[in-house]
Amino acid sequence: MNELKELFQKNREWAAAIVKEQPDFFEQLSQQQAPEYLWIGCSDSRVPANEILGLMPGEIFVHRNVANLVVHTDLNCLSVIQFAVEVLKVKHVIVVGHYGCGGVKAAVLNEKHGLIDSWLQHIQDVHSKHKPFLDELESESRLHNYMCELNVLEGMKNVCRTNIIQDAWARKQPLSVHGWIYGLSDGLLRNLSECFSSPEDIEPNYDAAIAEIKKRVNASVQKDKAARGNAQIVDQSKSPASNDQATNS
Ligand SMILES: [Zn+2]
Repeated sequence: MNELKELFQKNREWAAAIVKEQPDFFEQLSQQQAPEYLWIGCSDSRVPANEILGLMPGEIFVHRNVANLVVHTDLNCLSVIQFAVEVLKVKHVIVVGHYGCGGVKAAVLNEKHGLIDSWLQHIQDVHSKHKPFLDELESESRLHNYMCELNVLEGMKNVCRTNIIQDAWARKQPLSVHGWIYGLSDGLLRNLSECFSSPEDIEPNYDAAIAEIKKRVNASVQKDKAARGNAQIVDQSKSPASNDQATNS
């Protein structure tokens, strides 16, 4: 019975601190929840929705899985979206990835971890889709981080393709789908795309967000090439052969 008692202790302290601020907080919250946001994020312990946004219990509905995937055969995720949109009537669905995602890394590097490999194949599909412009990247960590961003954009699109969102828009329910990425090293969220608030938004806003990533990928490729060029010049000037040439000339 005493197992994990430190967690029960922390829980009592947390509840007491909230009650101190607002004595009827839990009593009121137990009557109903009316969150405006649905967060679809990664299970990573470093990316907790409420804490990152500074929101209290009751303010955000949350679904998390490894690598924040939205898969059309995942009844768990679809049920969360359906309940959030049709019953809670959230106004915003936010797909949130994070840099340094272990799930994305495992998929990109084709690491084997067992059952989860099948789940992560969805990320390999995203990689294959964008391979032509990603292939030029020399840095593995840059590829990893760009893939974290692309995975969010594909997740946004997948959310919008569900009947749940399509039907909500058809009945003019106000609903926007957002794509963000979180930096583990600075604790900050970044917006990756204009939000999708109607079926007409999807393609142009997705294309614009992909174009933005392509631009940054190209800049990274050029930077790496330039750095490699400079390194070669330094190497040549340091090499005995070049010294000989310099002496002979
Ligand atoms: Zn992750």
